[in-house]
Amino acid sequence: MPQKYAAGNWKMNGLVSDLTEVLEIDKGVQDLACNTVICLPATLIYAADGDPRQVVEIGGQYCHPSASGAHTGDISAEMLSEAGAAFVVTGHSERRTDHGETDADVRAQTEAAWRAGLVAILCIGETLAQREAGETLSVLAGQLKGSLPDGATPENTIIAYEPVWAIGTGKVATPEQVAEVHDALRAQVDPEMSLLYGGSVKAANAAELFALTNVDGALVGGASLKAVDFVPIARALA
Ligand code: 13P
Repeated sequence: MPQKYAAGNWKMNGLVSDLTEVLEIDKGVQDLACNTVICLPATLIYAADGDPRQVVEIGGQYCHPSASGAHTGDISAEMLSEAGAAFVVTGHSERRTDHGETDADVRAQTEAAWRAGLVAILCIGETLAQREAGETLSVLAGQLKGSLPDGATPENTIIAYEPVWAIGTGKVATPEQVAEVHDALRAQVDPEMSLLYGGSVKAANAAELFALTNVDGALVGGASLKAVDFVPIARALA
């Protein structure tokens, strides 16, 4: 069986004072069987990974393909790892859009994550225009082929399906839409690789998504910022 993950992505949110939420999340998930990961802004990772009793694992949100070099403002997987991250998001649609990241870039970042010993949470997703044109499955297959490096295993990679039109919009994909995509993805990856859904996941819609055969958890944006919102999502999974 694939591992189950309740993963949060804080995006460009959070100051040191907000790390109390990570502590609260940790308290709320101590007894759960699922894995819990919070992907933080890089500035918070070192401070968030202090307590060895903590069960919440920490991730970054991006890594440069190189280990070091003249890349002002960038961060490497090795740096994230040293700060305390065990995971990193690669290929999030906001990075693909805001920073023009291509499938080839995402592939190189994912390889860099592995080199540093990080688990990559590799994101793919179609736009509304692509869905309306009936291109969803072919777009996703193309992104997967282009961005998932050879050598991906259930231990070093998690796939997150995040339809662009469902991110931050309150418009969650229907269980039928998610099932269609996840069943198709399952046929393209290792049967043990975890497949997460992301896009407007909340406590109110989590349980019906987690009931789907090939949904192994969620990558949660807005509802991961507060323990009161995130813990019930993790509890719906475990
Ligand atoms: P929301 O849960 O805020 O829609 O964000 C999803 C996401 O992009 C997680 O990576």
